[in-house]
Amino acid sequence: MKPNDLPIDLPTPYYYYDMELLERTLEVVKTESSKYGFHVHYAIKANANPHLLECISHYGLGADCVSGNEIQRALSCHFPAWEIVYAGVGKSDREIELALQEDILCFNCESLAEIQVIDEIAGRLGKKARIALRINPNVDAHTHHYITTGIEENKFGIYLYDLETVITEILKRNHLELIGLHFHIGSQITDMTVFRGLCLRANQIQAQLKARGLSLPHINFGGGLGIDYADPYRKPIADFQAYFATFARFFEPAPHQQIHFELGRSIIAHCGNLVSKVLYVKEGKNRQFVILDAGMNDLLRPALYQAFHKIENISSDAAEEKYDVVGPICESADCFGKEVTLNTTRRGDIIVIYSCGAYGEAMASRYNLRDLPGSVFSK
Ligand SMILES: *Cc1c(COP(=O)(O)O)cnc(C)c1O
Repeated sequence: MKPNDLPIDLPTPYYYYDMELLERTLEVVKTESSKYGFHVHYAIKANANPHLLECISHYGLGADCVSGNEIQRALSCHFPAWEIVYAGVGKSDREIELALQEDILCFNCESLAEIQVIDEIAGRLGKKARIALRINPNVDAHTHHYITTGIEENKFGIYLYDLETVITEILKRNHLELIGLHFHIGSQITDMTVFRGLCLRANQIQAQLKARGLSLPHINFGGGLGIDYADPYRKPIADFQAYFATFARFFEPAPHQQIHFELGRSIIAHCGNLVSKVLYVKEGKNRQFVILDAGMNDLLRPALYQAFHKIENISSDAAEEKYDVVGPICESADCFGKEVTLNTTRRGDIIVIYSCGAYGEAMASRYNLRDLPGSVFSK
């Protein structure tokens, strides 16, 4: 990013969103998914900024929500209710009521206990709840262990060995309509063989269901497509072509089955950068610290997942040096990168942390009673 791309004199830190890149990304998502008639939902939790949501809903994507408030946010940003799916291991009664009253497309259910509660609440409201079973397919996403969700040690989904019991129980209930299967095995997955593995497992499960006379109209493969954090310039748009092609090639749908996806990171990550200012450069023992006015409360990923983000000093073209780039928070984990190569850095320089449109602003907190970061849009 060049300094003259940025609005001047705004208080830092702030997220800067490249709306042209978001639009180009959404064009590619639409083109590549519609080749196969796939339905794409945007995973709101990646970034729920209303301005971005308005843009995404305008492109005709559905929404994937993980809380009642996300459902309300999606509706207020013009995602139609019949394009909203709702997952999460801990849906509260109030959230279930809201989703039923709004008549969303589907609950992605994660346990029999939850399914029983949905049935009861639907009965009380005189509704029939459309549900899909989130299955824990025991497919390892080969990603950071905090963001793998589809192996049996994780809390997510219905375990394969429980599937028969759960289906038998659902078919006995009066206020449920079982419409599909759902998977979401993890995030930041760049190896397409992982998704091929998911397709093959889904084929097996569907064959098993077919043998007992069950054919479901929907299947949802969740999200998880990764991006290139190392070099946001080289590949600003994720490889949607390879991703959708993998499912088209390896998944064998039931007749007339609708195929859904829930993408978060791959849609929004590269569109957002965190802009901050250098408060101090401090000499440490055998190292120098660049202390930013942005901290882990603004961008948690490096502290939470040891995530890598490309960092640049856009104010300097002096010789390169190595710095530990840290924030002002009273935690040693408040570090954006160790031994980062930056042009020689001084107080007041602008530092950009790239590719943090996903799980950046959405995870910001007021820890240390700091202000929330601002958000600025390229148009
Ligand atoms: C987080 C999440 C997604 C989106 O994952 P990405 O890796 O950001 O694409 C999709 N579905 C569910 C159920 C999720 O929890």
